[in-house]
Amino acid sequence: MPNPLTVAYFTMEIGLDADIPTYAGGLGILAADLMLSARDMKIPAACVTLCWQHGYMHQVINPDGSQSYSETNWRPHDRLTLLPQKVTVAIGGHEVNIAVWALSLKDSGFEVPVYFLDTNIPENSPEDRAITGNLYGGDGWMRLRQEAVLGIGGVRILRALGYAEINKFHMNEGHAAFLTLELLKERGFHDENVRPSCVFTTHTPVKAGHDVFPYDMAWKVMGDNLPWHIKKLAGEDALSMTHLAFHLSAKSFAVSRVHGIVSNRMFPGERIEYVTNGVYLPRWITPEIKNLFDKYASGWPSDPAALTRHCREIPDEELLAAHRAAKHRLIAEANKYAVSPLSENILTLASARRVVSYKRPELLYTNLVRLKEVSQGHIQIIHAGNAHPADRFGQDVIQRMIQRSKELLDSVKIVYLPNYNPELAKLLTSGADVWLNTPTRLHEASGTSGMKAVANGTLNLSTLDGWWVEGYEMDPQSGWRIGPLSQALDADDTRQIDAEDLYTQLQYQVIPEFYYRDHVRWIRRMKRSIGLAGYFNTHRAVQEYVEKAWGHAK
Ligand SMILES: *Cc1c(COP(=O)(O)O)cnc(C)c1O
Repeated sequence: MPNPLTVAYFTMEIGLDADIPTYAGGLGILAADLMLSARDMKIPAACVTLCWQHGYMHQVINPDGSQSYSETNWRPHDRLTLLPQKVTVAIGGHEVNIAVWALSLKDSGFEVPVYFLDTNIPENSPEDRAITGNLYGGDGWMRLRQEAVLGIGGVRILRALGYAEINKFHMNEGHAAFLTLELLKERGFHDENVRPSCVFTTHTPVKAGHDVFPYDMAWKVMGDNLPWHIKKLAGEDALSMTHLAFHLSAKSFAVSRVHGIVSNRMFPGERIEYVTNGVYLPRWITPEIKNLFDKYASGWPSDPAALTRHCREIPDEELLAAHRAAKHRLIAEANKYAVSPLSENILTLASARRVVSYKRPELLYTNLVRLKEVSQGHIQIIHAGNAHPADRFGQDVIQRMIQRSKELLDSVKIVYLPNYNPELAKLLTSGADVWLNTPTRLHEASGTSGMKAVANGTLNLSTLDGWWVEGYEMDPQSGWRIGPLSQALDADDTRQIDAEDLYTQLQYQVIPEFYYRDHVRWIRRMKRSIGLAGYFNTHRAVQEYVEKAWGHAK
């Protein structure tokens, strides 16, 4: 009989490892980092997710800048253990069989299991086997069936595995909200019997990021799984997973302070607190940086705040040497793809993320005359990032970036690295001098790649949005902000203002400081950047969740 759980964490995706491609991006990476911290902190937790046959896509960039994406073929039994338990959920009028695989995150005798639900088993029809086929790949019908498996199937699997006592069910994004329906059924359809057991984190300030289904479709797919009062819980006009999650959670959270403000505005009447995201530090720092932390901030693995207290004690030379090692690896990798090789002595900016319009991937290229004037051979730039194969905007952006890197060859060297994944993210965030992030303000819920950068002593140059609002406020000397504090009313104006400010920051702050006598001011900033890692980590985030939500039994 398994021990009681403090929390069962439900998530559509988890990004533990580049070769378990059951994730699409930041949401899955965060889920993995939170579970790793929970494990280290010995919090009785289990994670429930789906066993995607095809999640993360492998990107190849062709010479003309067009891209090919191939599905990563992986075999679950190479990495996961199939368990004997099975459950069924009625979906679309018949029972769908669900099997479960386990992966144990184990350390020092304590484990957090991750359960991957799988419908790709012989008992199921081909249509049902496809439910756990493509992460975020299908239409509304498909998404509903996937979410039924995750939410309802997930609770049933936990019960079948013997978990009778679970203090909190955590919904990582609205995708998991159907878990509330199974709990309602278990508890006599009384909302007040369910609400104290549920916690919800919303992750996107963008409307399209919230799943909404028409009721006629929902009834056909979900049938009797929907309680009679579903419209009271999930919305009168359409079934909103976000509203369902809000209405049956004791506590709801956004993922940064500014995202909390935006979310409360988006969902009037809800009470949304926030827990700013973090990263699991041991996963994202280089071995050289880890040595420095061990030497000068001992105790940091269980008490990351030690980094804030001791970052200034790291000797300049040792910090520079550690960063140089990471930069050496990054430049070597970039030069495999560079037309004209990059140099380890030149200020290196990196910017890599999912290519979507609100992140403004081309802000740096708004005014090429200015960029050339600023650059003067003093900067080189490395990009990476995937776009969904069906996303024309993203495909075009990448193609333009590749084209532009050829046109600008004589004034600024730009390399676009293919196949952004966690390993490349680590190489980039640790090896760059400056991590550039340019989201449209109020659109980035948190962002975590900049936190990977600070942990490695890389400096952030970012619009004040998501986590950076808090990071910059905590220590404005740790990096730089782009754009004024207030907001222009018009998106195009904002874009022009932000672009001009980006060039100004580079020209008068970033470049001069980098090349200034022996780097002295730069190194001071690097240490302050590391100081931020004492806060922007998942140990702190998990501790906050324990105090604000997970730890309090009904
Ligand atoms: C960390 C990470 C992300 C999230 O980064 P953002 O700051 O949200 O861009 C996305 N994808 C990968 C592969 C990552 O490692």
